[in-house]
Amino acid sequence: MSQQTLRYDVVVVGGGSAGVAAAVGAAKLGARTLIVERNPYFGGAATHASVLTICGLFAQREPLEPVVGGVGRRLLEKLDEIGKYYGPIRNPGSGNVIVPLDAEGTKFALDQLILEAGVEARLHTTVIGCDVERERIRAIHCFHHGGVFSIEATSFVDASGEADLAFMSGNGVRYGDEEGRVQAGTLVMQFGGVSPEVQLHRHQFTAAVWQAKRQGDTVLTKDRGMVVRLPGSQHVLALFADEAVNGLDSASLTQAEMSARRQAWAYLEAFRQHVPGFKDAYLVATGPSIGVRETRHVDGEYRLTGEEVLNAAKFEDAIARGGWPVEIHQPGEPPRYQHIRDRAYYEIPLRSLKARDRANLWCAGRVIDCDPTAFASARVMGTALATGHAAGVAAALQASYGEAPAAATVRAELQRQGAMI
Ligand SMILES: Cc1cc2nc3c(=O)[nH]c(=O)nc-3n(C[C@H](O)[C@H](O)[C@H](O)COP(=O)(O)OP(=O)(O)OC[C@H]3O[C@@H](n4cnc5c(N)ncnc54)[C@H](O)[C@@H]3O)c2cc1C
Repeated sequence: MSQQTLRYDVVVVGGGSAGVAAAVGAAKLGARTLIVERNPYFGGAATHASVLTICGLFAQREPLEPVVGGVGRRLLEKLDEIGKYYGPIRNPGSGNVIVPLDAEGTKFALDQLILEAGVEARLHTTVIGCDVERERIRAIHCFHHGGVFSIEATSFVDASGEADLAFMSGNGVRYGDEEGRVQAGTLVMQFGGVSPEVQLHRHQFTAAVWQAKRQGDTVLTKDRGMVVRLPGSQHVLALFADEAVNGLDSASLTQAEMSARRQAWAYLEAFRQHVPGFKDAYLVATGPSIGVRETRHVDGEYRLTGEEVLNAAKFEDAIARGGWPVEIHQPGEPPRYQHIRDRAYYEIPLRSLKARDRANLWCAGRVIDCDPTAFASARVMGTALATGHAAGVAAALQASYGEAPAAATVRAELQRQGAMI
């Protein structure tokens, strides 16, 4: 077992959208920053669960209105530099604007962002515990195949998606909503063998599921899901295979992965038989992991509410903007949307990123303090890039001054780094 102890100004746990943005934001302030990620690549749900459409970078209203700058914008520039930026696409029906991603391009672009900013990185490394002294996290404990080692830092960012660090440090966390219910998990499917000329019509997929069920299928869940043609590969991305899953419990995850894979093969068969142009379709990939939308939320200094999100609330200590509607997924049901007033954007206060019980812990991405309705909007990757950026800047300022920074100071630095606030 190795016994090294490393020391940084800022340590970020989790290398998804939020974690990468946090690490880059902190390093841009000159903080010695380390990002720790258990997967072999950055990107979180984007690269590890094939969530290959960024939502929340733009408000819904016309004309096109970006609501995320800073590291989020830099990611798009990076994708463009490597020929993997396919621009925003507006759904004419809903007004929703997405940016499609290429998985390999995204992994590579995120590597470049990390290296460019001078962030140190540990992939293949899982955070398994921490030490707390006088309400502050002193060090985290990490596992790699060489054994367990510790990393000390002045400030920490929990961008783990599951609030692992907040939980391990004893900060208050809660699972799902007030009754412990969470949004559905979904195993994303990618299909090849569908000619680029084939137009995708949602109702044809719904009809195919109904037809398969009439013929006796008992495996399929959803009959209405998202179907998108990926611009680069021309693969068809389809989100149908829902599971009620507890993302904190490996027994539940195992059951869900196997059940969802069974669904994926059944969807393939249903689409091959009943969707025009899908006769020669094949599964390019699933996941690799089932996508887990929701587990724990961190108790912060302020809980953003659904009412504030839907009313496009503004805050004096705003550090990010959210432009995606409330989007709720229950297993097997079509998503339910609620729109932000005037299809504008709401703001997220710094207080929702500050952990309530640990003086040097900030949270970012889908774990920030939100009620269930606010979470259903703020969880998307565009907004996670923005809250991550802010958490990283706040953590770096804290490391530099020794105490939690004033919101005005965080806002000024975010503006200097090109964030939209
Ligand atoms: C099926 C599905 C479809 C979705 N569709 C969309 C969509 O179309 N567009 C959109 O924008 N959003 C979508 N979302 C939501 C979005 O993907 C997530 O909310 C978003 O990825 C949150 O970003 P994050 O960085 O907070 O967390 P994540 O992307 O989950 O990243 C967290 C990272 O932390 C790492 N980690 C966790 N614990 C540890 C640990 N202990 N040690 C080390 N590393 C750790 C994980 O490996 C992971 O890489 C979808 C989600 C799901 C599940």
